[in-house]
Amino acid sequence: MKSLTQANGEGLERTQAIGLMKAEGAQLLELMHAAAELREGAKGRVVTYSRKVFIPLTTYCRDDCGYCTFKRDPGQPGAGYLSPGEVLEIARRGREQGCKEALFSLGDKPELRFPEAAAALGRLGHRTTAGYLAEMCRLVLDETGLLPHPNPGTLSRKEIGALRQASGSMGVMLENLSPRMQHPGMPHEHAPDKKPGARLANLRFAGEMRFPFTTGLLIGIGETVEERVDTLCKIREIHRRYGHIQEVIIQNFRAKPGIPMADTPDATLTDLLRTIAVARLVLGGDMNIQAPPNLSPEAYPMLLLAGINDWGGISPVTPDHINPEAPWPQIEELARRCAEVGYTLRERLTVYPEYITQKEGFVPAALQAPVARLADSEGYARASSLPA
Ligand code: SF4
Repeated sequence: MKSLTQANGEGLERTQAIGLMKAEGAQLLELMHAAAELREGAKGRVVTYSRKVFIPLTTYCRDDCGYCTFKRDPGQPGAGYLSPGEVLEIARRGREQGCKEALFSLGDKPELRFPEAAAALGRLGHRTTAGYLAEMCRLVLDETGLLPHPNPGTLSRKEIGALRQASGSMGVMLENLSPRMQHPGMPHEHAPDKKPGARLANLRFAGEMRFPFTTGLLIGIGETVEERVDTLCKIREIHRRYGHIQEVIIQNFRAKPGIPMADTPDATLTDLLRTIAVARLVLGGDMNIQAPPNLSPEAYPMLLLAGINDWGGISPVTPDHINPEAPWPQIEELARRCAEVGYTLRERLTVYPEYITQKEGFVPAALQAPVARLADSEGYARASSLPA
């Protein structure tokens, strides 16, 4: 297994990765050891998080993913858009609590399906959700200094370009790239925006713009291990070309009441650990690999030992709107539990340190002053910095 960590930067090849996705018992422990060793060679024993506030810009969405708890159709409680005043009020509360990231979560193109959404956008002065999002990112950046990180779903090149001018980074989860996910009975059957080609195009557009990018997998939604590895390999291929994928999230499916997949079993911890470890070996020691701590509260040390180096955004202010049943850990508690197994928790910005201090061209002119106000000399969040 040691040879896995000596893959001279090439990363694990597909067939080997597929085999390791089935590792159990002693082989799984060896796999995790190899992944942790690779991570430590590149990143030491530092694990990061971003102090963020969560802004659910709109709960309308034209898609219906089988695992979604976030979206609301017109007429349902909580359906609609936040007004600019509401957006700013949440961002300011976050700023008071020391947050430095404004994570915009939202449904995809609801105006194309619901007249109510199109009318609400019209009242806000926009024809598209993407246009309103770009305006709100700019507003939050200008008024609070928090760095926006939008998660908008699929956009055009022009729409991503508009976000680029007012956001530190952006994200589009791939979940899984297999076209099978859109077949009848599968989680993306009724989700036109989860077409693999469209999502990959977004990764490429962002790469051409040198836009620091977050993507990732949702595991346990009916995919095979081969499909999981193929998705990881595609991320690697795109990152090798553009160098802009700053983090890859490995998220485990958890069933919740009221969703179409309520009866689907949760992804197991074993499956999560081997996917994290294989992702580390496929993507290499330098990639930032993240697992959300609130979805596996009993397993913090195991996730670290499987090769993650980041916990993602943690909010001291707002609940996780995507997984509302799973509370965020206290940051102090997370730091204590990392220290127990020999890791130091450090706060980062929504732009990872190396994209600020080492890689050229990933912080555009419009973002340089806001990022400089928040970052220390290593590119991490300044200990006592609050946005100006
Ligand atoms: S695209 Fe996102 S918000 Fe829309 S249904 Fe799917 S998971 Fe929910």
